[in-house]
Amino acid sequence: MTDYYEILEVSREASKEEIKAAFRKKARTLHPDVNKAPDAEEKFKELGKAYETLMDDNKRATYDRYGEDGLQNAGFDTGGPFAGGFGDLNDIFNSFFGGMGGFGFGGRPDPNAPVEGDDLRLDIEVDFEQAVFGTDKEIKFDHLETCTSCGGTGAEKGSQPVTCPTCHGSGQVQQVTRTPLGSFAQIVTCPDCHGKGKKISNPCKACKGHGKIEKEKKINIKIPAGVDNMSKIRVSGEGDAGTNGGRAGDLFVVLHVKPSEYFKRDGNDVYSRLDISPAQAALGDDVVVKTLDGEQKITVHAGVQSGNSIKIKNAGVPFISRPSQRGDHIVVVSVKTPVKLSDEEKTLYRKLYEIQNNKKEKAQQSSIIDKVKGVFNNA
Ligand SMILES: [Zn+2]
Ligand SMILES: [Zn+2]
Repeated sequence: MTDYYEILEVSREASKEEIKAAFRKKARTLHPDVNKAPDAEEKFKELGKAYETLMDDNKRATYDRYGEDGLQNAGFDTGGPFAGGFGDLNDIFNSFFGGMGGFGFGGRPDPNAPVEGDDLRLDIEVDFEQAVFGTDKEIKFDHLETCTSCGGTGAEKGSQPVTCPTCHGSGQVQQVTRTPLGSFAQIVTCPDCHGKGKKISNPCKACKGHGKIEKEKKINIKIPAGVDNMSKIRVSGEGDAGTNGGRAGDLFVVLHVKPSEYFKRDGNDVYSRLDISPAQAALGDDVVVKTLDGEQKITVHAGVQSGNSIKIKNAGVPFISRPSQRGDHIVVVSVKTPVKLSDEEKTLYRKLYEIQNNKKEKAQQSSIIDKVKGVFNNA
């Protein structure tokens, strides 16, 4: 249990003025805007308890003589002003400091200040090859534009918005809140104009007083070569219109690249599979493969195995930052066992089998001879 005077960092002789000043100073450091520590709320409750006790002459006297237990024994509630918990710590702080100004917390924006419009997101599909080599694409989307009839004021032509009589244009009003620590002035959004600071008696018919209209727009965008799935393209100023002359937000186009039947992409490299026959694998062959740039002849070397790869350099995906440079195309070889053989093929495979079998037997015999020789040599 921490000493109340230590919590407030005041001397035992501190005056009420000193305690009050100390409380405010400490409370500011525990404000959730500046203090993200998980125990900040707990500390604030402690602070409230210390403050409440020391500001009450009776409680302070009892505390000075008998401590916190003594307060309890004397029948005082020692839970502190926030023992019941409070929903949003921020609200409590705002009620302490919101109306005093100069504390630098939760300052509300001037309702007439320019506000930037919202950014928007649009998801589109592009073909595999379009992502590789880039393309121009027409996109269609909805965004908010400043109403041209009223120029964004929301007031019908010939009329003007008037300053809100309730808040005199500030968009906020002062409200006095009673808390266990006394009454505090709190600044709240003006209920009359909802914080706008202005009222429109004759709303613009085109935008119904909003000052903005949702419009469909079509534009062409350039998709650079080398983009990948989930790449984002920023289209500056095509988000929602701003308020009070603030700039429009941006539109972010998110690309969904359709997979290719033939190619698999890994970064800037592409992979494809080449099926060859056992004869091609054994003897080697020149074969034509499909690349991103069209057909190309490559050489399969004799003795190639399933899973071996053949690299075609600089035939992969261009790098976005330097499109002249590209990744590689990797052709992965897969040796396919034939399943339907003609009679002639069967005859040849049988012949091949016999030859290979003879080779095996000879090899086995020679290894037996070697072993026998070895036995004699070792003897
Ligand atoms: Zn309008
Ligand atoms: Zn108002």
